Amino acid sequence: MIDKKRLEQEMIAWRHDIHQHPEAAFEEEQTAKLVARLLRRFGYEVEENVGKTGVVGVLKNGDGPVIALRADMDANKIIEKNTFDYASKTEQRMHACGHDGHTATLLGAAELIADEMAFKGTVVLIFQPAEEPGWGADAMIKDGLMERYGIQEIYGQHNFTYWKKGTMQIPVGPCMAAEDDFVIQIHGVGGHASGPHATKDPIVIGAEIVMALQTIVSRNVNPLRPAVVSCTEFITDGAPNAIPSNVTIKGDCRSYDPKISELIEERMKAVVKSVCEMNNAEWEFEYSREFIATLNDKTCAEWAAKAAEKVYGKQNVVLGCDPVMGSEDFAKYQQFVPGCYCFTGNVDETHCMPNHHACYDYNDGILLPAAEWFAELVKMRMA
Ligand SMILES: [Zn+2]
Ligand SMILES: [Zn+2]
Repeated sequence: MIDKKRLEQEMIAWRHDIHQHPEAAFEEEQTAKLVARLLRRFGYEVEENVGKTGVVGVLKNGDGPVIALRADMDANKIIEKNTFDYASKTEQRMHACGHDGHTATLLGAAELIADEMAFKGTVVLIFQPAEEPGWGADAMIKDGLMERYGIQEIYGQHNFTYWKKGTMQIPVGPCMAAEDDFVIQIHGVGGHASGPHATKDPIVIGAEIVMALQTIVSRNVNPLRPAVVSCTEFITDGAPNAIPSNVTIKGDCRSYDPKISELIEERMKAVVKSVCEMNNAEWEFEYSREFIATLNDKTCAEWAAKAAEKVYGKQNVVLGCDPVMGSEDFAKYQQFVPGCYCFTGNVDETHCMPNHHACYDYNDGILLPAAEWFAELVKMRMA
């Protein structure tokens, strides 16, 4: 039997080590080495460099289902503002989404599962690179991950600062949204700030477009269907005393229904075209689909909830919680096999910064319970 206090201390040490040495998408070489070394120590068969920097650990115990558990390893390109002793030592890199915690959690689960061997079948642990840009799951799948290990079902978890420490939220069906990106370019004619009549001011045209885009969600999308349209960047080539010639507006849309995503693209293009034509300006419009929606399988969600109730207590588990509008490339695995993605609460008095904030930190107090949840899930599902 594992000494859980000792395991928890080790998990915290792994987490702090990874936190200090954050590696962004497809840079995760040191993190992958640490993962591979520990998995071998726990008795897993290990394959490295799956999907560039991904690691897979396999533990077999007779015949039974092949169940995959997934963690992501990549950091964000954010400058950390925390001042604690394990803050990032790498410039412009920070574990601001808690993937350091996810990696340490799955490593803890790996040791628990190998120690108990209370399952029949094959456990496949996936340590995925490059979740943040949405490339890692794809890279591992293209490398033959699903067929090579015969994966039949998949589970994962993400910490969130929407919920309190000691709770788990499990959506059934819609879990995390699809993400589309857009770039609008407006080409007017710049000139002297004092002579607007001699220009085609792309800022005024751009502002009109930003406002008109607000009508897509409020007036075109069915109010019963979730959708978000956010303009996130407004870039000009002007100066304090010069009207610019060019404006670039970038942004991001979220939705669950592919038909809504198509509607947003179509309306957006119509708005850009009409406003620019009305103002006699040139325009360009690009729209790309980056993430597909994460959709939880009902039976998998029920298994996840059963295991969570054992660890967190029935009153702290919500099966069928509201989905969120963030996006996850866990969805890519669910195109092949049923799976469930769960939300682990991260918040207490000292951990209240949102994910992706420069002062965010993973809550060490949620590491062990989440590892126990993975281990319990394996025990129940693969009994
Ligand atoms: Zn993130
Ligand atoms: Zn994340």
